[in-house]
Amino acid sequence: MSKNFAPSNDASIEIFERLESEVRGYIRSFPIVFDRGIGTTLIDVEGREYLDFFAGAGALNYGHNNPAFKKPLLDYIQRDGIIHGLDLATSAKKAFIEAFERYILKPRGLNYKLQFTGPTGTNAVEAALKLARQVTKRSNVVAFTNGFHGVSAGALAATGNKKYRSAAGFGLAHVTALPYDGYLGPSVDTLDYFEKLLNDPSSGLDKPAAVILEAIQGEGGIRPASLEWLQRLRDITKRHEILLILDEIQAGIGRSGKFFAFEAAGIVPDIVTLSKSISAVGTPMALVLLKPELDIWSPGAHSGTYRGNNLAFVAARAALETYWADSKFEDEIAAKSAILADELKSIANDFPNFELTVRGRGLMYGLVSEKDPSLPGKIQAEALRRGLVIETCGGRGEVLKFLVALIITEDDLRRGLSIVRESIGAVQASLGKGSAKATLGTEVDA
Ligand SMILES: *Cc1c(COP(=O)(O)O)cnc(C)c1O
Repeated sequence: MSKNFAPSNDASIEIFERLESEVRGYIRSFPIVFDRGIGTTLIDVEGREYLDFFAGAGALNYGHNNPAFKKPLLDYIQRDGIIHGLDLATSAKKAFIEAFERYILKPRGLNYKLQFTGPTGTNAVEAALKLARQVTKRSNVVAFTNGFHGVSAGALAATGNKKYRSAAGFGLAHVTALPYDGYLGPSVDTLDYFEKLLNDPSSGLDKPAAVILEAIQGEGGIRPASLEWLQRLRDITKRHEILLILDEIQAGIGRSGKFFAFEAAGIVPDIVTLSKSISAVGTPMALVLLKPELDIWSPGAHSGTYRGNNLAFVAARAALETYWADSKFEDEIAAKSAILADELKSIANDFPNFELTVRGRGLMYGLVSEKDPSLPGKIQAEALRRGLVIETCGGRGEVLKFLVALIITEDDLRRGLSIVRESIGAVQASLGKGSAKATLGTEVDA
């Protein structure tokens, strides 16, 4: 009997392919049965180790099973701490809110109230959009090209990618898509267009309740907006009494080098959405920060059974105390960011025929292959063979996405980058072979 419950040592993914819906995604790039995660190492059922440059799409900024959170979590379960709490007051939730005020809000001079939503990013975005529409009594929202805000209807309407949008099955309305910073090339300030639309009574733009954006776009291809552009957007929205919503679900929680990605621009958004790494340990949690004067919610108006994941609160508080009590963590991120950026530029230089470019900020970087959008997928496959898990992103998969855990060691960072370099070399070699084949018109032995 107990034998059936022993961990399977079967590395086959057959049952996933047979019984799990075709909707499955990441498993297709990484067809491996993973078993354990330690820091930046993933271990499969057969004991093989992989270096993780993916970090749960940004949900594992502090790595897998960070020892600083394990003990508080185990202690909490051991003493029968409340696990499921709806939005009841619990000691774990109280301790999280206190830590958030002390380590995040106060030192940054931020004055926000906290709304706990259902525990996914998309739910926080839904709440933010609902609130902005209620407060302003306007329905339209401005979002940007290549933006990603989640896949539930309201958030999906603000998401650019056709793959996600076309799955909705009905028209996604009440959002106007405008060009993000850089969309029309480096010489065009896309906010000139937005401002002109706002000032022109005949522009056709319904005055929006809010503008929603990522300060550094993640899924859309690692596109950082310039700090000046963000500042100007804050200025425009303020003058036109439009609420500014910063979606910090992926770029937040230290990813950009600061706790919030908007911090570097010195702006203060009206509403902020947080999820992914806020819970620190990878358990679901989401949070909306709102300026107190916007808090016109009636009690329970945006509800949810899982607003009180207390294991998330326990780990989230431990993370704030461990990493955000002083600026040491930010300094470490800056040092690793410099290594990552330098090494990526060097890799791009060393493979001139691929015409790769480098984009990013903090520990959120992309190696961009506009010329051949299929290249990152090929590099990814070669990297996996060499023990590196790394994702691609962008509307056509044209970006190799470096989303390392913020706690990664310098050695592991350099090791992963050298695997990437080797993998690009392997792709180049195989392409060379391919073109030789084509020229010869005969089969060359593989
Ligand atoms: C991942 C993500 C979301 C959606 O979060 P889910 O938990 O997947 O619903 C929203 N916005 C951004 C910027 C994200 O990266």
